[in-house]
Amino acid sequence: MLTCRGLRKEFGGQVVLDGLDLTVEDHQVVALIGASGSGKSTLLRCVNLLEELDDGTIELDGVEISDPRVDPDRVRRRIGMVFQSYNLFPHLSVLDNVTLAPRRVHRRERAEAEAQARELLDRVGLGGKADAYPDRLSGGQQQRVAIVRALANSPRLMLLDEVTSALDPELVGEVLAMIRDLKSAGMTMVLATHEMGFAREVADRVCFLDAGRVVEAGPPAQVLGEPTHPRTRQFLKRII
Ligand code: ADP
Ligand code: MG
Repeated sequence: MLTCRGLRKEFGGQVVLDGLDLTVEDHQVVALIGASGSGKSTLLRCVNLLEELDDGTIELDGVEISDPRVDPDRVRRRIGMVFQSYNLFPHLSVLDNVTLAPRRVHRRERAEAEAQARELLDRVGLGGKADAYPDRLSGGQQQRVAIVRALANSPRLMLLDEVTSALDPELVGEVLAMIRDLKSAGMTMVLATHEMGFAREVADRVCFLDAGRVVEAGPPAQVLGEPTHPRTRQFLKRII
């Protein structure tokens, strides 16, 4: 479903993605792990066309989305992205946060967008918060709203960048539970994470990034349990 070939990205002479290859199958959950600065966020931002590539190609559903002639907005409508900091609009209610894109970008009718948003919020136990403002919600609830907001566009693919890193430990579980449910529902996801236990449980494939390349990839039990690359071993030894 998603194929990245030879991705190269530099920032001011610093090579951040160095010929990176990544393939994601339909309904697969791929966890990106690796030290801070290894290029995980840049990779996700490139897939969502938030960064221009210096080289390489990205295909989504057989279409080369990295082709400069492709309209990035059309691509982003099919990809849901959630960041470490929830980035909810503070001056908008939960319901308005969730319906903003469907109404503005997809030109849905307000009533239809709101009905869909309320259903999504209900499903994740946030139905009672529809009219609240973000500052009245816990960090975990805000991040769950951010995920609902990304889902409101009915994306083909979800990109999740360290979505639990900014949360207090006791709030991490509810967000991970939501990602688990998305996996059960068959959502295709690429997630950058520091939660090795979660990666092991939820991912079909784990990719270890080092200096802008995938140096080791495979089933979680193999990459996390019996890593073969010295850099992977070193990384796992340091964090466990
Ligand atoms: P990770 O998410 O794995 O921690 P990042 O993709 O955020 O890694 O960053 C990889 C490297 O790229 C880092 O050295 C970072 O400083 C650099 N970088 C990322 N974004 C930019 C940017 N917009 N401008 C300059 N350097 C950047
Ligand atoms: Mg990052």
